[in-house]
Amino acid sequence: MRVDIKSVAYAFASQDVNVYFPDGEEECFMIEKLVCTKCDNFWHTSLMECYFCGELNYYLYECTNCKSKYSITNSSKNCLNCQENNSLIKACINEKCPTNQNEQLKELNKKEKGVFDLTSSLNLSLMYCINCGCPENKYKTFRIFVYNDEIENNFEVFMKRNEPFLNINDIIVFKKHNGILKYNFSKIKNTPLTLPTEYKFKEIANLVENILKL
Ligand SMILES: [Zn+2]
Ligand SMILES: [Zn+2]
Ligand SMILES: [Zn+2]
Repeated sequence: MRVDIKSVAYAFASQDVNVYFPDGEEECFMIEKLVCTKCDNFWHTSLMECYFCGELNYYLYECTNCKSKYSITNSSKNCLNCQENNSLIKACINEKCPTNQNEQLKELNKKEKGVFDLTSSLNLSLMYCINCGCPENKYKTFRIFVYNDEIENNFEVFMKRNEPFLNINDIIVFKKHNGILKYNFSKIKNTPLTLPTEYKFKEIANLVENILKL
């Protein structure tokens, strides 16, 4: 595979999108992303929520003695406010959460070093879209071809060369070098494609986000 196609693929991968290089295909790569079924918002599989109340993980440590909150712990895990030893846990920040109200659960929470401790059994990976609350997600996949204006000089020649491999719904990313790098993209339809007249994306993040909205 050409280095310039690979570099676009790695730029996609840096946006937390799964990237695959299909066997025997030199001119394209595949992207895959989990999104909300309803609003197409990215589904963050690495996010965790509290098993008891659904609150998200804010990566805070809380002192079980004085309730002080810290974004990171000192290595000894002692509270800087009340000096209590080993009192910092990754608690759920929702004060109404059963893990902060119910006496038994409070004890369990302490034992598990908090809802969001890495070894805690009191959290789940995200169950709902953080944008619209929808409980369903789906994978979106696209094959990405790259038209790089530094390497190609004729779009018709590029299309002729790739025609045997292109399918409806494949994406062509246009990469334009003109002092600064800019991008645009088109989806393969039944009608012939032409080069874009403008290149609206300077950031790869924007480009990726807009492709995944299709
Ligand atoms: Zn909670
Ligand atoms: Zn404290
Ligand atoms: Zn949603």
